[in-house]
Amino acid sequence: MLKLKYNTPILLLILVLSISYLSFFNYESQKKLLLTQMKSDAGDIVNSITAAMIRFQDIKSTMNLQTLVNNVSFGLEIFEFRYLEPDGIIRNSMFKEEIGNIYTAKSFKQTMQGEKNLKEFFFETRDYVDVMAIYYPIYRNKSLIGMIDLAVDVSEYKKIEGSQENFALLRRQVDIMNLLQAIEGSIANSLEIFEKTDVDRFLHAYVHSAENIVQISLIDVNNTIRISSHPEMIGKKLNMRELPPPELVNIEDRLIYRTVVKSGLLDKSKDTQLMLLIDASPYAQNEQQLLQTALVTSAIALFFALVIARAIYYSALERSRSEKERLEQLVKERTHEIEVLSKTDALTGLWNRGYLEEMLEMEFKRAKRYGHDISIMIIDLDFFKRINDTYGHMAGDEVLRHISKRISDCVRETDFVGRYGGEEILVILPQTSLDAAQNIAEGIRVTIAQQPVIFESYTIEVTTSIGMSHLRQEHTDYLTVFAEADKALYFAKEQGRNRVVVFDPTIDVG
Ligand code: GH3
Ligand code: MG
Ligand code: MG
Repeated sequence: MLKLKYNTPILLLILVLSISYLSFFNYESQKKLLLTQMKSDAGDIVNSITAAMIRFQDIKSTMNLQTLVNNVSFGLEIFEFRYLEPDGIIRNSMFKEEIGNIYTAKSFKQTMQGEKNLKEFFFETRDYVDVMAIYYPIYRNKSLIGMIDLAVDVSEYKKIEGSQENFALLRRQVDIMNLLQAIEGSIANSLEIFEKTDVDRFLHAYVHSAENIVQISLIDVNNTIRISSHPEMIGKKLNMRELPPPELVNIEDRLIYRTVVKSGLLDKSKDTQLMLLIDASPYAQNEQQLLQTALVTSAIALFFALVIARAIYYSALERSRSEKERLEQLVKERTHEIEVLSKTDALTGLWNRGYLEEMLEMEFKRAKRYGHDISIMIIDLDFFKRINDTYGHMAGDEVLRHISKRISDCVRETDFVGRYGGEEILVILPQTSLDAAQNIAEGIRVTIAQQPVIFESYTIEVTTSIGMSHLRQEHTDYLTVFAEADKALYFAKEQGRNRVVVFDPTIDVG
């Protein structure tokens, strides 16, 4: 019990601490998991934007020129129209099946190798048709981004004679040149509009459709926002020396996850960047919930530990209380036993002489105070020495025990039977008249005399002599009454034993 009492609080403390540790450890690992989740979410978003933007630019270059081709081909005897990339890939063509192929015309190669001048008309026979063709370069920011290959059917003009033919062709050339310049301007415009407006609108729509994306911006090499889902951001210069790591920032009271990744979306050859701002509040809410869970778990653990500790404390208290009661009871019982032993005669189990004298004094005082009767008798075994001598001391002891028992059986529970001397037994009979006492004494004497004691193989005849007296007016203490009974006993012995003698002042004891 004591062990439990002192170890339990420590065990409970360890239990509570480990539960708290586990729940907070869980909280920390879940938090890490959330951040990882967030990073991968951001990665997914960046990838899908990049993919969408690339696709978007593909569509842009194709769609735009197709419209132009339709416009320029109307009302002109255009034989062929292509938009080529500088390396000869056919980006656009009147003939859809050749888009994506490499343009192999000898004249194009000659032009690219500088054998023919750009923007100069030349005559060729293409598919058995006489054509007047031109390679018209398209520049953007002073670099060649594409080339228009335009061929006009001139077989009709070939039929015209002499200078008239040249004149007609020259007029056509001026017209075509004007058109090409218009196309060039249109392409440049379109590209600009696409980059400036359409991409912005695309990003804006993207941000709108995804609830937790706050902003997407494309940053150029000078750290200036060039394209953004938020038009007000365009043109802003950011203070970034190098690519910052993903971080959680507070923008206008909102928790924002900001990540900047490299992206070739603006210019494939240069380090442009894509900045992504994601609303982190759902993650933060999750985090809060996790923290709450951890706190609640710890609180519950603490509560149960307290409940258990309280229960243990009270049960320990209860146990110690009942243990105390048990000990007290034990002490009481032992004390009583000792008390009884101190009043009892070991051989016969009767009261001993000391206790008898106490009782004799007390009962006489009581009887005197209340005017009650009280009688006493002294019983002495006749020729007891002879019994010892004849059958042995053990037989004598056995006789004493037997006689004691028989005398006890003959009196009331309220009477006192005690061993006064070696083989002398005193009986105090409170509230008993001398007559009644005399009858009891006679009964004792007869019972003993009629029933011999059996010890081993011996049948031992025993008789007793009994001297009696009782409290009378003239008595001042019990000693006188006792002396009278003793005198009566002596008289009984003198008269021949085995008899009851009541004290009488006239008896004469020699
Ligand atoms: P009477 O009283 O009839 O005159 O003869 P008596 O032989 O009984 O008298 P006496 O007083 O001379 O002897 C008493 C004997 O009782 C003496 C002693 O050996 C014996 N006695 C006393 N106490 C015990 C006891 O505890 N056990 C036994 N076995 N004998 C005892
Ligand atoms: Mg005697
Ligand atoms: Mg005797």
